[in-house]
Amino acid sequence: MTTFLLASGNAHKAEEFRELFQGLMTISPAPATLAVEESGKTFAENAFLKAKAYAEAYKVPALADDSGLVVEALPDLLGVQSARFMPELTDYKDKCSKLLELLHSSEDRSAYFVCVLCFYVSAEEIYFFEGRVHGAIGEALRGEHGFGYDPVFVPTRAEQDGKSLAELPEWKNEFSHRAKASQAALLFFKESIDKSMKKS
Ligand code: IMP
Repeated sequence: MTTFLLASGNAHKAEEFRELFQGLMTISPAPATLAVEESGKTFAENAFLKAKAYAEAYKVPALADDSGLVVEALPDLLGVQSARFMPELTDYKDKCSKLLELLHSSEDRSAYFVCVLCFYVSAEEIYFFEGRVHGAIGEALRGEHGFGYDPVFVPTRAEQDGKSLAELPEWKNEFSHRAKASQAALLFFKESIDKSMKKS
């Protein structure tokens, strides 16, 4: 079973991925956090930069994720820059309120979350998986669950009750951008293992 080093210092993420890929691959937390400059223009580029840096530093396969919120009316402010939006505000509640303020007079409130996973096995073998969840920026902060921009993001779901992601923790676990990217990776690796077992 291949072991992937998680290119992140976030122990919570390592545990989440470890459980998800249990039985298929081992996900281990990185011994130390590397300062990788996220200079890419896309989520895939940044995920690649992080996975490559950890794989080269520790000489083992590495897994990196990169995610963020794309707000159609503010194309240059969030997206790959989501973690660096309004850096002077340290509390995400304040960042969410600022986002609402900026969209105050905007008719277009459409937005989506993106997550890209990069599995860097070697320079010749690299896999990418992407997940998205579509929705809109609500009119106010709602809900206490989740993190980041969850309180202002209202996913487009079958039931249009205006609930934010911060009010939908169970739904988020199953249908978030991160869940979708992980499910795509899981399916791909399960199928490749099945194929290689049939051949042998
Ligand atoms: P990272 O990829 O975990 O570093 O996240 C990048 C940025 O996107 C940070 O500002 C996060 O708060 C935000 N973000 C990523 N995923 C989510 C999510 O599921 N909910 C809310 N914010 C998120």
